[in-house]
Amino acid sequence: MIHFKDISKTYFAPGEFTALDHVSFSAGRAEFIAIVGKSGSGKSTLINLVTGIDYPTSGEVLIGGKAVSRMRERELSLWRGKNIGIVFQFFQLLPTLTVAENVMLPMDFCNSFPAPGRRKRALMLLEKVGIAEQADKLPSSLSGGQQQRAAIARALANDPPVIAADEPTGNLDTHTSREVLELFAELRSEGKTVIMVTHERDITPFATREITLVDGAIRLDRLIEARPYPVAAAEGSGREESHA
Ligand code: ADP
Ligand code: MG
Repeated sequence: MIHFKDISKTYFAPGEFTALDHVSFSAGRAEFIAIVGKSGSGKSTLINLVTGIDYPTSGEVLIGGKAVSRMRERELSLWRGKNIGIVFQFFQLLPTLTVAENVMLPMDFCNSFPAPGRRKRALMLLEKVGIAEQADKLPSSLSGGQQQRAAIARALANDPPVIAADEPTGNLDTHTSREVLELFAELRSEGKTVIMVTHERDITPFATREITLVDGAIRLDRLIEARPYPVAAAEGSGREESHA
């Protein structure tokens, strides 16, 4: 689903700095990859290359077979809207739209579901993330955890195969963080590929894999054995096939 082929990223201003240095990895369906590492190790740079928010200096990013790093802006934004659900640390909900309208926005933008059904779908997604009763409120009247749930519902609007998140629990208390991580773990058990930058102390109950960045390079790429959501059908058949 995600292929990083020998990716380097150099920023040229204010000075020349190589934030990612020949990074390669692949991730399949139903993986939950935690990207960890110290501040400045290149985690956000990596996520921004997954989402196509930024371009690599060299190498190629393929997502679902598509060369993200080669798409032009217009094509890219439509492709992104359908294929990548993005969740940010500070939620980034539009303050003048209701929660349900925020969730409908990606459907409107990509024209992905018939217009009359979009609100119904938004309500279904808000139900899924546990905040259906907040649908017609403005984001500012929701708690941080509720706003992040709304942002996750928005990320799911177009049913994208990949969810990318940069420290989505960075602004939440411990208890709420756990609930949000559980939500991401549930999404991956439904077959989504989740790639998340995190500072959580112990991601092992949620993620299936942990990639540690040090100075723009992969220092450690480890499979996590303990997984909280073994899909029933997966037992005995191996994780990869079971979600195919
Ligand atoms: P992390 O998310 O792991 O903290 P980042 O990927 O944001 O790290 O940044 C990695 C390095 O690249 C840092 O040293 C940072 O200062 C630098 N950097 C990030 N974005 C830019 C940019 N737009 N221009 C110049 N340097 C940048
Ligand atoms: Mg960062």
